[in-house]
Amino acid sequence: MPDTPGTRESTICLTFDFDAISLWLARGQTSPGPISRGEFGAHAIPRILAMLREREITATFFIPGHTVDTYPGQCAMIADAGHEIALHGYLHEPVSKLDRAGELAAAQRARESIRRVTGYEAVGNRTPSWDFTPSTVDVLLELGCEYDSSLMGTDYTPYYARRGDVADPDGPYRFGEPTSLVELPVSWSLDDYPQFEYLRTDTAIMPGLRSPDSVFRNFLDDVDYMIREEPGGVCVLTFHPQVIGRGHRMMGLERLLDACRERPVSFRTCLDTARAFRRGSA
Ligand SMILES: [Zn+2]
Repeated sequence: MPDTPGTRESTICLTFDFDAISLWLARGQTSPGPISRGEFGAHAIPRILAMLREREITATFFIPGHTVDTYPGQCAMIADAGHEIALHGYLHEPVSKLDRAGELAAAQRARESIRRVTGYEAVGNRTPSWDFTPSTVDVLLELGCEYDSSLMGTDYTPYYARRGDVADPDGPYRFGEPTSLVELPVSWSLDDYPQFEYLRTDTAIMPGLRSPDSVFRNFLDDVDYMIREEPGGVCVLTFHPQVIGRGHRMMGLERLLDACRERPVSFRTCLDTARAFRRGSA
């Protein structure tokens, strides 16, 4: 069938980064205030699962090993509901602060935590804060990962992540070779965290606290643009339970999902999407 705009079904990957307390610990914040912001993420898991169950949507949860070890009950609920659980560091550590061995060790430790709760080896990854190093692709391939979802090279088109790029400031950028690791691209503009989360540090204020209807109008326009211009594409949406779990945002997300369900899109896990891409490109 030709790709007539609007007729070929596109894919939405709904993803939840269940960072919980690890996000705050990774920033050196150990006092009860910030810790409680992370705790709220665990509190919100049942309502998120109920929302997904009601709509028969299967999602991918990227969960740091520290969250799995702290909240094994909530993580078991996620797995038992049929959602995919994938890697997201151990303590939400930015990989650029680790050497290759440290990056591998954190991922191995996290994978073991996930295996204890789910019984399977996670084969997908999202780096904490979408940080990335020249070693990340090789580390993930060494772990047997099939896909990553941390880069921004395209918007609706999965691609194969590269190794061996050379950034020479004195000449053109030299692109390395594509590997077998499927990349499911993300964007800060399709991430709830910078839109909604209020954050004050010693040096900056991230105002957040936007209206869900205005934010999700942007999200829906990105979905509609995909349907019109790149039917059959993939759009990855990113949420954080500690952010999206507040009442008004949940209501906004419910409206967004219901609007998407009226369109020619299907909701699939990242793993299913990566495998479909690999089959299609074989
Ligand atoms: Zn995260």
